Amino acid sequence: MNALVDVLIVGAGPTGLTLGVDLARRGVDALVVERAATLFPGSRGKGLQPRTMEVFDDLGVLDAIRASGGPYPPRVIWKDGEQIGAAPMFDPVEPDEGAPYTEPWMVPQWRTQEILAARLAELGGTVVFGRELTDLAQDTEGVTAYFADGTEIRARYLVAADGGRSAVRRAVGIGMTGERVDPSPFVVADVRVRGLGREHWHTFPGEDGTGMMLCPLAGTDDFQLAAKLPEDTAPDPTLDGIRKLVGAYTHLAPEDVTELHWASEFRPRAALADRFRAGRVFLAGDAAHVHSPAGGQGLNTSVQDAYNLGWKLGAVLRDGAPESLLDTYETERRANAAAMLDLSTGVHRGEVRRGRATVQLGLGYPDSTLTEDARRNPSGILAGDRAPDGRVDGVRLFDTFRGPHWTLLGAPAPHDGIRSLPTAPASYGPGVFLVRPDGYLGWAGDSAEGIGDYLTRVGRAGS
Ligand SMILES: Cc1cc2nc3c(=O)[nH]c(=O)nc-3n(C[C@H](O)[C@H](O)[C@H](O)COP(=O)(O)OP(=O)(O)OC[C@H]3O[C@@H](n4cnc5c(N)ncnc54)[C@H](O)[C@@H]3O)c2cc1C
Repeated sequence: MNALVDVLIVGAGPTGLTLGVDLARRGVDALVVERAATLFPGSRGKGLQPRTMEVFDDLGVLDAIRASGGPYPPRVIWKDGEQIGAAPMFDPVEPDEGAPYTEPWMVPQWRTQEILAARLAELGGTVVFGRELTDLAQDTEGVTAYFADGTEIRARYLVAADGGRSAVRRAVGIGMTGERVDPSPFVVADVRVRGLGREHWHTFPGEDGTGMMLCPLAGTDDFQLAAKLPEDTAPDPTLDGIRKLVGAYTHLAPEDVTELHWASEFRPRAALADRFRAGRVFLAGDAAHVHSPAGGQGLNTSVQDAYNLGWKLGAVLRDGAPESLLDTYETERRANAAAMLDLSTGVHRGEVRRGRATVQLGLGYPDSTLTEDARRNPSGILAGDRAPDGRVDGVRLFDTFRGPHWTLLGAPAPHDGIRSLPTAPASYGPGVFLVRPDGYLGWAGDSAEGIGDYLTRVGRAGS
């Protein structure tokens, strides 16, 4: 059958599911296809950064995410069976009215994916499992995706959310440039362990910079084990292999590992796709960038990619925005991903601390062609910045932003399609502010004069 959908999303990881949710709530006809028979079962991307919590608030999954996780416990260091030190994992960042979430929230990745998949189903979206994309062809009208089971699907646009080894990226011939971050192999696993408290993240330094960490996974009885092994080791991610590692690196006995629920090995690389777009095909998430898990940026950056692309696809497909709007996905997100690769590598090598730099609240799009500050003397929050939370006349800004719309602060909305608050928050500084659907300030002016051209450019001119 040669079905036609507006957007075909390849891969039901965090990227594909986030995009699926965003498009479903915009009424875009999107389909998520996934090679595996089920959602990913491992905990790996377990740290949700504050900016991701804001995105999840907008997408309607924040309550479920909060109920399923918890804060990171402080880290303790063990040596020869003794605790020799304790330290918080992150430099504290104080919450304020503009940034209600400032600490990473721990939720195992499998649970985050379950929550996103449930939200997608609630919005009427679909994930089709057991569908492996093997090739694609595109023309000026659309993309045809070919699957291992001999089926094909025709779509107006296709998004590669198929992870670091992306088949889509290879099919469209986009290269990936990068380097190994660490010569060591790493093992990561979800295990049940006897004899270790759940109030700490346990660190067991080994010889020559190798070592093991056992982190109690919030909302479960498991620990996430992460081990850095000597360079010439061949990792053995079986129960037996994991038990031997625990015996070697910790004071626990091998049999104190009672269950193994998931395990994997990886060698950290930092690499960036040469382009994020080829015609009607977009790369997002790990398909576009891979990096060290240190600093917890991967899943979060992937969610932000999807959130940036979702409203643009919606604007072009539903609101008649010019196709050129889609070009801004690559210009905005590739620069962001490049900076994030440097950050992850810096954290991995111990050159950057986890804290203000890793929470992703300071990211923005100041150099984007979608960013316009028409004020004579811009001050306070600038166009391109993340639009902070706050209150105006008792109304919370994030409550007003929540949903797929644009929001105008400080002037009446020019038409029904835009939500507005007549007074701009004092915390933003002087001006009138237009907030994008993804929570960044697109346009600012001394008054609403001149906003019309901008709205035409982004497909929100009204009828
Ligand atoms: C040990 C470890 C710890 C990490 N910790 C963190 C952390 O704390 N915070 C953080 O932000 N990130 C972390 N990450 C990174 C995070 O897990 C990834 O960045 C994230 O999973 C990327 O999501 P994605 O949806 O782009 O890709 P993936 O999660 O890889 O999903 C891709 C999906 O596409 C499917 N697929 C693949 N090929 C095809 C095909 N041909 N056809 C159809 N479907 C296909 C796959 O089966 C998969 O379900 C960590 C990673 C590791 C390894």
